[in-house]
Amino acid sequence: MDSAPDYARQKAADFIAQLNELLTIPSISTLAEHAPDVERAARWLVDDMRRIGLRAEIHRADGYLPLVYGEWLGAGADAPTVLVYGHYDVQPADIADGWGTPPFQPTQRDGRIYARGALDSKGHVIAHLKAVESLLATGDALCNIKLLFEGEEESGSAHIYQFVRDNRQRLQADVIVVSDGSMPDEKQPVLVYGLRGIIQFEMTVTGPARDLHSGHYGGNVHNPLQALTEIMAALHDERGRVTVPGFYDAVRPITAQERDVLDGMREWSEREWHAVTGAPATWGEPDYALHERSGARPTLEINGMAGGFFEKGFKTVIPHKAWAKFSCRLVPDQQPATIAGQVIDYIHALTPPTVRVEVTSDWRDAAPGVVLDYESPSMQACIRAYEQGWGVRPILTREGGSVPVVAVFAEVLDGDVVLMPFGYKGGGAHSTNEYIVIEMFHKGIQTALAFYDQFAALHSGAD
Ligand SMILES: [Zn+2]
Repeated sequence: MDSAPDYARQKAADFIAQLNELLTIPSISTLAEHAPDVERAARWLVDDMRRIGLRAEIHRADGYLPLVYGEWLGAGADAPTVLVYGHYDVQPADIADGWGTPPFQPTQRDGRIYARGALDSKGHVIAHLKAVESLLATGDALCNIKLLFEGEEESGSAHIYQFVRDNRQRLQADVIVVSDGSMPDEKQPVLVYGLRGIIQFEMTVTGPARDLHSGHYGGNVHNPLQALTEIMAALHDERGRVTVPGFYDAVRPITAQERDVLDGMREWSEREWHAVTGAPATWGEPDYALHERSGARPTLEINGMAGGFFEKGFKTVIPHKAWAKFSCRLVPDQQPATIAGQVIDYIHALTPPTVRVEVTSDWRDAAPGVVLDYESPSMQACIRAYEQGWGVRPILTREGGSVPVVAVFAEVLDGDVVLMPFGYKGGGAHSTNEYIVIEMFHKGIQTALAFYDQFAALHSGAD
């Protein structure tokens, strides 16, 4: 009988055809009228899971989009268990947005498949599903397998957190593989072991009861827009550090050893910075390299400010109100509730008696930052799996963005969490002409297979 990797190679064309089938379903979770399509995609996945030998069900509570869960526990109680998370819902897409071909008619050209969701994240879902098919069809499965595919990741993941808490026992696993996302190069895999959290703030500054004539009152009323910018400007010092008292107290420092590990990203991130930002010069804490600033340091960013007159022409007023939205990216071990309190207190302390300030935060829903142990046996198994699947040792990094579900898995479930992206960052996720590189899809399947292998070996070695 064939080995699982051989089976996957022989079935390559079938696997692509199945990916295309799923890609034709417009499972857009952010638009209510597509709820039946999300349902249809969930059905497709459950049917395929059952066909390849998993016990599978759709989970939904009233008014929410389905979660698909499948398991195969045939390796026995003593064997390790792998839980894989992915999502099969997608962002909206319309050919009028500038797509070269219809976004829900997968089109193959230049070694790529163009379709909404190809990269984010149906390519990941199918790669894992087909890896499992290869294992079960060849009798090669040495791990118990649990697959959890979400249908509302793109619309805010409102229910998966509760689902994970409510199904702690059922989802129990020795490792949780979160497979979504992308790498900055097709040939060089990058493994993310840290993600920043996020907390958001809204603020209004009011002064006079209504807009005032700037000639009559200019010079004796504190302009709310000016007061807002004065407060905002006081939130950083000239070295780019956040001035909020206590803001850095809980920040876990980067050790010398971790700096070495992260150094593999230096060139990549510098090159990317210059290619992507278009800004005239870098900015930020001078004691940290660019990839450290965005991966391992917390920030405070003004996301928007508004107020006053901004139409054509001029209106010489002192506006009565000004607004700002800002957010912080958090790193371990900063707690969203603590940071919210510190930021709000400091803004009140900065507020002069000449204006009134209201500032609120979403700290109850905010996500904390996470760092996964890059020395854990699970992560090492993942590194070896990429070496086999890609033929290159992956670079380890911490990323600036936030994937809240990772924090929930890490908090609620006992197993290690590892991130396993198969996509290319330039593949247009959320944008027009999204694509998956076909070779990366197949390498993804081989990497997943190698991971099961490595993970099983780890456990048989430990017994
Ligand atoms: Zn997405």
